[in-house]
Order: sequence, then structure tokens, then C-alpha cells
Amino acid sequence: MKPIVALVGRPNVGKSTLFNRLIGERRAIVEDIPGTTRDRLYGDTEWNGRVFTVVDTAGLLLDEDDLTPGTPQLEIARRVREQAELAIAESDAIIFIVDSREGLTAADAAVAEVLRRTDKPVVLAANKADNHERAMNAVEFYALNLGEPIPMSAYHGIGVGDVLDRVTEAL
Ligand code: GDP
Ligand code: MG
Repeated sequence: MKPIVALVGRPNVGKSTLFNRLIGERRAIVEDIPGTTRDRLYGDTEWNGRVFTVVDTAGLLLDEDDLTPGTPQLEIARRVREQAELAIAESDAIIFIVDSREGLTAADAAVAEVLRRTDKPVVLAANKADNHERAMNAVEFYALNLGEPIPMSAYHGIGVGDVLDRVTEAL
């Protein structure tokens, strides 16, 4: 069995952007297949000679479509917790993605609370660190108590290798 690495985080932090960068055309479940669009997306990737399956959990419970205006914060927090719990249950390691442009949010804290309870490795990726200033902002996420935040730009492909190094070390 290949290890499973789940991408977890509140909506819009860049989970799917990272997934697409890691998987590219090798996506196991295509968005065009009816009934799977809101399911999880799986794809295999390789780093440092390790092959593992990456899971984009976004469509599962926390699609942006679910977050219609007026959705109470408590409901959002409940869903992000649920998403994190499912990711922990099915994966061997977790990449927890936060947004260094937006900074630390209550939803991030809700996910972190769940992730701190697992023994499975969690790599904290501070995404959207497109430039030096934003990369510096990543230190803010030390407050989540999940170790060193790794500055990353999934969009520009910066720091992705550093994040994957941590993941493969932990697998
Ligand atoms: P998800 O909801 O967590 O899956 O987030 P998406 O991958 O859909 O990304 C949400 C938005 O953030 C999109 O507009 C992306 O283009 C943008 N985004 C993702 N990664 C980066 C990044 O590294 N830098 C910047 N500036 N934008 C990014
Ligand atoms: Mg997504």
C-alpha cells in the first residue's frame, strides 16, 4: 500500500492548486465523471524516491459552494473539524495548508485543534508566500502549535520541495 497524504485546510488556501501541481495529469478521479465532482480527488506522486497518494479533501465538506453568505461561523468551524477528522482517519500524513496573505483565522485554529490530537505527522505549509515579505509572515503560524510553518507558494512552485521533504522524512 502506498502511503496516503491528505491536503487539509479551510477553503481558498490553495489545496487544489498544490494538488494540481503535485499530480498534474496523473489524477485518478477526473472531475468530469458524474458523481465524483464533490468527492475527494486522489492522485499518485513521487518525491525523494517515495511514491505516495495525495488526497485533495476540498470537495468533500468544505466546498466554497457550501459556504453561502450568512453561514454561521460555528457551522463552518464544525465542517472544518469534520474534514480534518476524516483526513486523519484515512491518511498517513497531513499537509495542513494556511494562507500567509490572509494570516491566521478562526477556521485555521479549528483545524489545528483537531490536528494537534493526532500522532500522525502534520506538515504546516504557509501558502501564498509568493515573495520574501509574505514568507516572513509565515512565523505567525507558530501560534498553531504544529511546529515550523514552511513558507510555500503552490502557485509559483516555491517551497513545495521543502514541504515534500518534511512529508517524506515523516512517512
Ligand atoms: P482551495 O479552496 O484550498 O482548494 O484553494 P485553491 O487551490 O482553489 O486556491 C484558491 C485561490 O488561491 C485561487 O485563486 C488560487 O489561484 C490562489 N492561490 C493558490 N496558491 C497560491 C499561491 O501560492 N499564491 C497566490 N498568490 N495565490 C494562490
Ligand atoms: Mg479546492
